[in-house]
Amino acid sequence: MVLEATREASVHDATSPLRIGLAFGLATLVLGVGDYLSITMGIDWTTDVGPQAFRFSPRMLVALPLIVGALTAFATLLLGKLAPGRSRSVAIDSVLALPLLACIPALFSGASIAASPLRWPLMLATLAAAFVAVVVVRRLCVAALRRMPAADKARQTAGALALLVAIAGVAVPAYLSARILRNLYPTFHGALALVALGSAAAALLVMLAANAKPVGAAPRLPSMRRAAGALAAGLALWAALIGLCARSATGRNTLLEHAPFTGTIVPAMFAIDAAVAAASSPQIVPPTSAGVPLSHARFDPRKPKPHIVLITVDALRGDAMRDGNRYAPCTTQLRALAKRHVELTHAYAPSNATIFALPGLLTGLARAGSETPRAFYLPVVLVENGYEAEAWVTQHDLTTIDNDLTRLRKLGFHFKTYKTAYASAEDLTAWALDNLRREDPQFVWLHLSDVHSPYALPRGPSVDGCTMADEYGPRMATLDAVLASFIAKLEARSDVVWALTADHGESRGDRGVYGHGSSLFDEQVRVPLVLGGSGVDSAVIDAPVTLLDLPATLLEMAGAALPDEAPRLRWRRASTAAPSRHAISFGDKGCSVTRDNLKLILDDHAGTLLLFDLANDRDEQNNVAAAHPAEAKELFGLLAPPFCSEASMRLSWLLPQ
Ligand SMILES: [Zn+2]
Repeated sequence: MVLEATREASVHDATSPLRIGLAFGLATLVLGVGDYLSITMGIDWTTDVGPQAFRFSPRMLVALPLIVGALTAFATLLLGKLAPGRSRSVAIDSVLALPLLACIPALFSGASIAASPLRWPLMLATLAAAFVAVVVVRRLCVAALRRMPAADKARQTAGALALLVAIAGVAVPAYLSARILRNLYPTFHGALALVALGSAAAALLVMLAANAKPVGAAPRLPSMRRAAGALAAGLALWAALIGLCARSATGRNTLLEHAPFTGTIVPAMFAIDAAVAAASSPQIVPPTSAGVPLSHARFDPRKPKPHIVLITVDALRGDAMRDGNRYAPCTTQLRALAKRHVELTHAYAPSNATIFALPGLLTGLARAGSETPRAFYLPVVLVENGYEAEAWVTQHDLTTIDNDLTRLRKLGFHFKTYKTAYASAEDLTAWALDNLRREDPQFVWLHLSDVHSPYALPRGPSVDGCTMADEYGPRMATLDAVLASFIAKLEARSDVVWALTADHGESRGDRGVYGHGSSLFDEQVRVPLVLGGSGVDSAVIDAPVTLLDLPATLLEMAGAALPDEAPRLRWRRASTAAPSRHAISFGDKGCSVTRDNLKLILDDHAGTLLLFDLANDRDEQNNVAAAHPAEAKELFGLLAPPFCSEASMRLSWLLPQ
């Protein structure tokens, strides 16, 4: 009994866990630095994103078990200090299981699994199984070691075998993880699986090393200084581990989206890449794509001018108006209505956030704001041409935040009448109808907050098929009824032209994200766009277009002549205008461009360059940049300041060769 307890103790007190930890740490740092240099020099050793290209580099296979081994050694050391006695054995099991426990929930945090009603039982069961696996593996190893002859050679052989088992135990689940979870950030999940299984394997290695100590020797407890050193080594290893996860574009994105705290390290790591790239490669400066100033519009004074109604719904997703979508039952009336008018099915907002989108929507300029001269604003141009300009822009947020949007609101977006009360679509549309009774031509802008959080406006009766738990859907149904009845009243008149759109989209759990302003995926930048009124044809236009061309289009719909080179949206079949500009969107950390079926996203925060084939991959899951290097380069060539920041443009080094 005494002997057994001593043996058990000797198993836990590794010969020199600190030394092992530091050696592993050094190796990892060298690997990490080497990796960063290799990627900046264009030698990519690791995986690419996308299920077909999934493969782990030999480096990664070696580095991860090393890291995990070091973490385990560190944990053993710390516990030797903190929890002496029998309780240590349980505590060690727990700590060995910790990386596993921390990883498993993340493994299941992908969007589709997160939406499953079984996700909690599934996660709990996996957690329990993982814990039991660690405990059992450790006990089996201890038992096996006790039966072994004491000769050093035999122990070394056993150690080598254990290493092989560990590598196999890591590679197989990593492959499975990539197959099973392939649509959920394969690299990231694969790396997590590696860490999880590697921790069990490394526990085995550490125990072999520990057992090499003469049986019966008194366990030596480490000093606080050693513990502090090991802590520092552990932290460095942690940073290196995240760095490895952040090596792939998808890994970076996923860390930022799903692990905000850990993700804080990503920009720093990327900044190093970007700085090295900036120093070593010439920058590509593509041509800009600019519109024609709205003041170039010429109205024929002899012709009567129709009223113009612009309806922007804050945070209404583009796919809400698409047949077959989960929100389709909530927009039945608007979808039917759209079919009678011009529906642009691939309209892109200039930005994923109101602050950038609204000024763009009223000027056609990419980076308009309170400093932009008045003359660029649609209401100013219309007032100069005899219109009255009234806006009701519902304010759903704190007006005390001092940003450019606040300043623009103070200027009333250069409208003559400007209301801000937080009110429902019903109130706003009634007010608009009042205005439209006037004789003089009116430009009425309604900006609705009915489907924007905090969802505090009155809600209409529930609608069949649209009774989802997510507040967003039922709110949309309310809006559907009110707007359909409002637009029906506009349809009955021959003196109104109108547009219905949104300032940006909204993530509703897509990729595990809620809200907007955080990414340039379709759910945040694609918006509904319907044009209607006197003289407007009915058509469905599937080509990607930008809302930046809406103000010029509204002028043309109202009868103004614009220079042919002014890009605008197609609202009548015989149009001589330059087609809409490329659908470029930007946020505060990147920009994107969509042309035909391809969409390129640059994220200078995550340090990613992603190309999606929207025809075959509507959910933007598979980065096909490596498979289409020429197209990626071509799309990149369409991006330029002011849409894209200098930081985004520096991502040119990520273009596949
Ligand atoms: Zn908004």
